[in-house]
Amino acid sequence: MSKVETYAAAVASALGAEATTTDARICAAYGRHTLPAADHIPSAVLYPDSTDAVQTMVRLANDYGTPLFPISMGRSLGLGSRAPMQSGQVVVDLGRRMNRIVDINHDLGFCVVEPGVTFDALYAEIKKRGDTLMMSATAGPPDGSVLGNAIEKGGGAGPLGSHFDNLCGIEVVLGNGDVIRTGDGGLDMPSHPNWHVTKYTFGPALDGLFTQSNYGIVTRAGVWLMRRPPHIRMFFFVFPDDEDLAAIIDLIRPLKAANVVPTMIRATNDLYLLSSQLQHPRSGISPCTPLSDAERRDLHKVHKAGSWTVSGALYGESEAATERGMERVRKAFEASGKARYIPDEEARAVPHFQAAVNSNSGWPAGEELNMLKWRPGEGAIWFTPGAPMIGSVVNELQRTCRAIANGNGLDYMASFVCGPRFARSVHAILYNRDDPDETTRADFCYRAMAEAFRDHGIFVGRAPTSYQAFHQAQRTPEIVKACSAIKKALDPNGIIAPGRYGIE
Ligand code: ADP
Repeated sequence: MSKVETYAAAVASALGAEATTTDARICAAYGRHTLPAADHIPSAVLYPDSTDAVQTMVRLANDYGTPLFPISMGRSLGLGSRAPMQSGQVVVDLGRRMNRIVDINHDLGFCVVEPGVTFDALYAEIKKRGDTLMMSATAGPPDGSVLGNAIEKGGGAGPLGSHFDNLCGIEVVLGNGDVIRTGDGGLDMPSHPNWHVTKYTFGPALDGLFTQSNYGIVTRAGVWLMRRPPHIRMFFFVFPDDEDLAAIIDLIRPLKAANVVPTMIRATNDLYLLSSQLQHPRSGISPCTPLSDAERRDLHKVHKAGSWTVSGALYGESEAATERGMERVRKAFEASGKARYIPDEEARAVPHFQAAVNSNSGWPAGEELNMLKWRPGEGAIWFTPGAPMIGSVVNELQRTCRAIANGNGLDYMASFVCGPRFARSVHAILYNRDDPDETTRADFCYRAMAEAFRDHGIFVGRAPTSYQAFHQAQRTPEIVKACSAIKKALDPNGIIAPGRYGIE
C-alpha cells in the first residue's frame, strides 16, 4: 500500500468506509479545473460528517504526514474549482455530508451554517420560514458554499455584498488538530449568545486568519442576514463608450458615500454582461481573435446595450417610498449627458439584466456561469484586483487591461463592484482550454494584468490557485515570513493545503 492508501485505510477504520475514497475516476473528476495548468488530481477524497470527524482526519494526517486540501462545495470556477494545489494531496470534501443549517436567528438577523450549505439551500430555508429575511447571493454558482465564499472573501451585490464583512464567528480545526471558536465562541462556557453577533470581543480578531490561507479547516460559520425589504426597485443606466468608465466611477462615489443607494453599484462592460447569453461569434475558429470595436457596436445595437451598464437597487416600503431616491440617482447619472436610464419594469424583461436583479434581491441564480461557454474548451481565469474609487485611476487600469487582453487575442470582460471608497473588479479571462496556444496566451494575459496593477501599487483580491505563489512572491519578504511563522504555529507539520496562497 502507498502512504496515502495507508492513511485512507486508517481514516476508514476510524470513521467508516463512507468517509473516504481512492477511486481513480472520482479522484480525476476532483482534479479538473478551468485554469491554464494541468489538472491536479488528488490521491484520495475524504467525506467528513462532523467537526469531530475533521479533527480525526487532521490528527491522522499529522501521524502519516499526509497533505490535505479542504473544500466546501468546490464551485470556485475560474479560481481552482475542486482541485488541490498539487496532484497527490488529499481533498477533504466538507460539503458532501456537513450541510446543516444549524440556526437561523430571525430577530438578530444571522444564520449559522456548515460548509455544505449552498446559496440555494439557504434561500430555500429562508423562504420556507416566510421569506422575511434576505441573504446576499452571488451571481455565481447557486450550489456554491455560503461559508466557502465568505472565507474566500467572495462577494455579492446587495448591502451585505462584502461577504467577509458579514461573516461573524467561526469554528476551525487547526492544522495541529485543535478545535477553536473565534470571538465570543472562545469563552470557556457551553453557550455563547454573542458569538455570531459581534466580531469585536476580547483579544485579537482571529477570523481573518482563516480567510485565503491554509491554517485550518473551517467547519462552521455565522453569516449575517438582513430583513427582506418590501419593495426592491432596480435601476440600470447604459453608457455608450469604453472611456465613460471614468465618469461612471466619479458619479457612483458620492451616491455611495451619502448612502443614497444601499446596494453595491456595479459597472459591467458589454462582453461580461452579454457573455451570459452569447458565445464568441467565431467560436470554432483558431486562433481566436477578440471582437472588434465595430462588432461590439453591432452587438450594442442588437441587444440595446452599451459599453458599460450600471446597476443597483433602492429598497423601501413601497415604490412611492423609493421615488425620492430614484430621482437623485437619475439626476446624478443623467447629468453626464451620456446615460440611458432603463427603469425597473423594463429591465426585468431583459435577459442580460437578470443577474443584477437576482443578486440584489437575494436570489441565487447563477446566470453569469453561462459565460464559461463563451469559448470552446471552457477555460476561465478570474482576475480580481481592486482600485480606489477615482474615475481616472479606474479608467486607466481598464484601458491597460483591455489592451493586454486584446493584444493577446482575447476579449476584455470586466465588472466593477463599487462602494464609496473601493471598487473590486472582476475580470473574466475566457479562453479555449483545449487549444494550447490560446491557453498560453490566457496565462500570459493574467500575469501581464497582475504586473500592470502591481506597477500601480495595487494587489489582487481572490487569486486562482495556480497564481497564488506568483502573487505571494509580489509581497514584501517580511509579510511572507510572518505568514510562514503563523503557519508553523498553527500547523507545524504543514498538513493543511501546503502552498495555498503561497504560504509554506
Ligand atoms: P465554493 O463552493 O463557494 O466555490 P470552495 O469550496 O471552492 O467554495 O472554496 C474555495 C476555496 O476555499 C477552496 O478551494 C479551499 O481551498 C478553501 N476552503 C473552502 N472551504 C474551506 C473550509 N471549510 N476550510 C478551509 N478552507 C476552505
